[in-house]
Amino acid sequence: MTLFDRIAARIRSDGPVSVADYMSDCLLHPEFGYYATRDPLGEAGDFITAPEISQMFGELIGLALAQAWMDQGRPARFALAELGPGRGTLLADVLRATRTVPGFAAAAELWLVEASETLRAKQAETLAAYSPRWIATASDLPDLPLFLIANEFFDALPVRQFVRDGDGWRERRVGLTDGRLSFGLAQRQAQPVLNHRLEDTRDGDLVEICPPAGPVVQEITRRIADHGGSALIIDYGDWRSLGNTLQALRSHAPADPLEGPGQADLTAHVDFEALATAACCQHTRLTPQGVFLERLGITDRARALAAGAGDGAQDGIVAAHRRLTHPDEMGNLFKVLGFLPAHAAAPPGLMV
Ligand code: SAH
Repeated sequence: MTLFDRIAARIRSDGPVSVADYMSDCLLHPEFGYYATRDPLGEAGDFITAPEISQMFGELIGLALAQAWMDQGRPARFALAELGPGRGTLLADVLRATRTVPGFAAAAELWLVEASETLRAKQAETLAAYSPRWIATASDLPDLPLFLIANEFFDALPVRQFVRDGDGWRERRVGLTDGRLSFGLAQRQAQPVLNHRLEDTRDGDLVEICPPAGPVVQEITRRIADHGGSALIIDYGDWRSLGNTLQALRSHAPADPLEGPGQADLTAHVDFEALATAACCQHTRLTPQGVFLERLGITDRARALAAGAGDGAQDGIVAAHRRLTHPDEMGNLFKVLGFLPAHAAAPPGLMV
């Protein structure tokens, strides 16, 4: 039995499923889901993320979080948390870079929100020296000051898609045509959650919502509002999404999202406006990743690394700097949104 067989059987008995249900099965099915069955990151996998491109990314983020911690009076105990830590690379770089910040490591409790057993095992190897704890959802985070990072986490959460039809919406669904998975549209319905999108869309436009994102943001920002802290959300997307952004990646190349369910990474762009709207605390301006990293000093860090590296490694450092910051690469597509308590200083690299 494959995941395709299961999804097809479900559609035959209950009818077409939403794009969100399809995405959720593909990514998180406990037996066949994409994240349950593999480590998808790196050259040998399907995609590569910023912390896997260069140590500079995690180092600069670590120092930004440590500065935010100092700006908020160095709480003696806090949760240092990551949503979807992948291989644990980002946190390992954060913890190495902040070793020189007096008191930071001693005050930090490491909390990892991770669904995949395979990746939990990888994180346990990478972060063995720091006694991390694993939890399945953000609602299990402790009630402590929270300094949190989420890089390419929200893009993996399932989205529902709706096509505008007059004053109503038709939900895009996955069904079966001649034994193969195919996209179709449900009957037109009113969708009160999309009322604000009647202002900026026309007939035939497609919009996406990510139902699990709001509750995750609320869990994080309630802790930040109550206990202090800061969160950095980094992902591809924009302030309000328009159009179909569902994408499948297999071996670093675009693939058909309906081909081989569970075999490809499925993502959708993050609608940062929806995250900001769900928050119970203050948020920063949405900032392009390239601008954020430049403000944190990535060019100086790249120069320092290059000065200490052999000839062969220097080209790699220049290429990584370009890839993370250049507007034609990740610099503009990826954005950073920060959350912080009322009246706190914005984390370095961001502005309220
Ligand atoms: N942040 C890492 C990995 C990004 S890949 C990096 O930048 O390299 C997405 C990560 O989120 C993986 O660790 C994946 O297993 C995890 N993940 C995806 N959906 C999740 C969910 N619903 N709950 C918890 N973790 C999830």
